[in-house]
Amino acid sequence: MKFSHSIWLLALGAFACTQTETFQVSTEITKWQGNKTGAISVTYDDGIVNQLTIAKPIMDSLGLPATFYIITGKVEGSGKGKFIGRDPQEIIAETAQTPTDSSNFFERASLIAFTGTSEAEDYHARVGSLFEQGKISEAYALIDEGYEKIRKGTMKNTDDVVFHNNVEDTTSWDLYRSYSAQGHEIASHTVTHPRLAVLDEINMLYELEQSKADLLKNIGPESTFSAEGPYGTENERVMEYAHKIYPSLRNRMPEEWLEEINRGSSMTPGESDKEYVQWQRGPLTKIGIGQMKAWVDTVLSHDNNWLVLVFHGVENLGWEPKSRNELVEYFSYMKSNEDKLWISTFRDVTKYLRERKATQIQTEVSGDQIQVNLKTDLDPDVYFIPLTLKTYLPNEWGKAQLSTDDGTRDLEVQSDEKGKYVVYNLNPSGRGSLLKVN
Ligand SMILES: [Zn+2]
Repeated sequence: MKFSHSIWLLALGAFACTQTETFQVSTEITKWQGNKTGAISVTYDDGIVNQLTIAKPIMDSLGLPATFYIITGKVEGSGKGKFIGRDPQEIIAETAQTPTDSSNFFERASLIAFTGTSEAEDYHARVGSLFEQGKISEAYALIDEGYEKIRKGTMKNTDDVVFHNNVEDTTSWDLYRSYSAQGHEIASHTVTHPRLAVLDEINMLYELEQSKADLLKNIGPESTFSAEGPYGTENERVMEYAHKIYPSLRNRMPEEWLEEINRGSSMTPGESDKEYVQWQRGPLTKIGIGQMKAWVDTVLSHDNNWLVLVFHGVENLGWEPKSRNELVEYFSYMKSNEDKLWISTFRDVTKYLRERKATQIQTEVSGDQIQVNLKTDLDPDVYFIPLTLKTYLPNEWGKAQLSTDDGTRDLEVQSDEKGKYVVYNLNPSGRGSLLKVN
């Protein structure tokens, strides 16, 4: 449906006139889908198999969707991790002559993870950690130490499995595709779970783009909307590249109307006066069920909170695991409050908020009919999450019907301090007619 700009403005003007002269009819897009009090997204990182075999069935039994940020290189049939660049032997030889500095650091930090040992992978991760803490000279020194071991042949394969690697994981693309069809979000956590902040451009782009390409090929565009850069990175350079590839990142979002309280922050959701607060919490092993439930209660006591939970290990497998029993109790608690909570994927909540901010409403009243039209410039192939509308009705309306392209149905007329209203869903470029029924 297309409106010309001038007709649109004219219609709005006519509406304003009608509204003041007769009765108070107005429509708003509710803050959350379903006119709920707040939202929760349950996210899992690293594609640990117990998330899919233990946590997911619990959520399925309650009808709750989850977001799984998976390491695509672990899945059979995907682009694997690799170093892209000059001959590795040349780079290794240079490290004997030239100390690490800003001119060679990213190349060396990119290569070291692919020199063939798990100890070298660990060097990459530790170097990245130092770098992201701003300990630049320590990061350079650790690179020099690592390459010295490589040159001497003393770098080892250790028995320690880096937490995100999971040898028991046999989850296939066929399974992931079926999980997506069930309503879960399967999304990118890169190809190999690197420290993106210490990769050079070509290797960082490979980690982001290859992962996206495999998700697109094996699942579809719904799996390429949101992503999570490993280790919760908020590195500026990484964010700049990643936001060009993924419309939404759990790491950080560009919206100025969204307060982001990430896992490391001690700010409380009530301290922000922004329109929306995305409040990320990590239910680590030591965090009890009482505290986890209190997070849900906090969402219920505000109207602008989006709680984003970040789970890793489940039942003795993976980093900071939570037990099956805890998950059953916790998700059941959420479910018992579902009348006030919109529990949805990270992708769909992001889309809803953006749609709400970017959609204009036109309400026209004629006789016993109220026509509501929505208009947005967002791409309809991406932004199609139904928006929940609340339309206040003339006082004499006892019953109402909604008529859309999909048919006609009765709506429950409710009332609050502002008057009578109905709640219903329309697509961001949708239209509907409210009809008075006598
Ligand atoms: Zn991770």
